[in-house]
Amino acid sequence: MSETIFSKIIRKEIPADIVFESEDVIAFRDINPKAPVHILIIPKVEIPSVTKINSKEHSELLGKLFDAVNSIAHKLEVDSDGFRLVINSGDNGGQEVKHLHIHLLGGRKMNWPPG
Ligand code: 5GP
Repeated sequence: MSETIFSKIIRKEIPADIVFESEDVIAFRDINPKAPVHILIIPKVEIPSVTKINSKEHSELLGKLFDAVNSIAHKLEVDSDGFRLVINSGDNGGQEVKHLHIHLLGGRKMNWPPG
């Protein structure tokens, strides 16, 4: 499996504005934000996309990812007004970076349906 730019961020080989870090999860501001708050929450282990997730291997990690989501939403004060989580998967889903990531978007009213 080929490595992505996110592996370099995890290893701190390239800079990122990190807002949360634990043993298994790291979160940082998107370099090209689509909302006033736009955070990428990623597992440190390389999982290429949502299609590679299974409950047998990843239940605990998924719980930790969502613990991180809630911790970040609280820290960045978007929890009370609300926010949107997005996981793009594959070409039609618009996934550019093949390392599983949750987009947390907040600080403005989101539109529906998404583009
Ligand atoms: P995707 O389209 O794969 O769901 O989202 C990838 C996201 O990663 C994009 O929103 C893009 O702006 C962001 N991104 C790509 N390269 C970098 C980088 O080097 N640093 C940061 N902070 N974000 C990046």
